[in-house]
Amino acid sequence: MVSSDISRECTELEKELQKYKLWANLVPSGSWGESLFRLMDRKEWDIVRKTAYAHYSHSCAICGQSGITLYGHEDWKYDYTKSIQQLNNILALCNLCHMCNHLGFAGIQASKGRLDYSELINHWCKINSTSKKEFKEHERIAFRLWTLRSRFEWKVVDASGSEISEKPSSSDILNGLWR
Ligand SMILES: [Zn+2]
Repeated sequence: MVSSDISRECTELEKELQKYKLWANLVPSGSWGESLFRLMDRKEWDIVRKTAYAHYSHSCAICGQSGITLYGHEDWKYDYTKSIQQLNNILALCNLCHMCNHLGFAGIQASKGRLDYSELINHWCKINSTSKKEFKEHERIAFRLWTLRSRFEWKVVDASGSEISEKPSSSDILNGLWR
């Protein structure tokens, strides 16, 4: 069991991050296996992400860009007192909004020359109408929250509250979203 001090700190850090329209909501390390993209059959995941693209009128759900390549993004919410990680949304996101949500992965991609990290920072600053200095602070808080979130043993559930199975179908995952 994680102490109530840690639960409280998580809640406070999350509140800090939620001030931003675009923020890094990092998935705890122990839950990586629960990535829907990995768990689902490719065909089923394709149905989920394409349903999300249509739901968001084929535009990025955060910055609103259209006519660009979209990515299906699993957005999770965390109950720190009950240790429940629940699917909050499937978002249609542009590449940079998606990378901002996966800052750890974005850093790795940048180190391999596959992503321009300064372009990511500029995008973040533009969407949030703020400074690069603030990006650094947001980054620090996001990774601190990620470290703390990784100490929990999460029960991972879908949007309707049912525990996620080993091979979820698209209808399992879409059930309970956008009601
Ligand atoms: Zn975007």
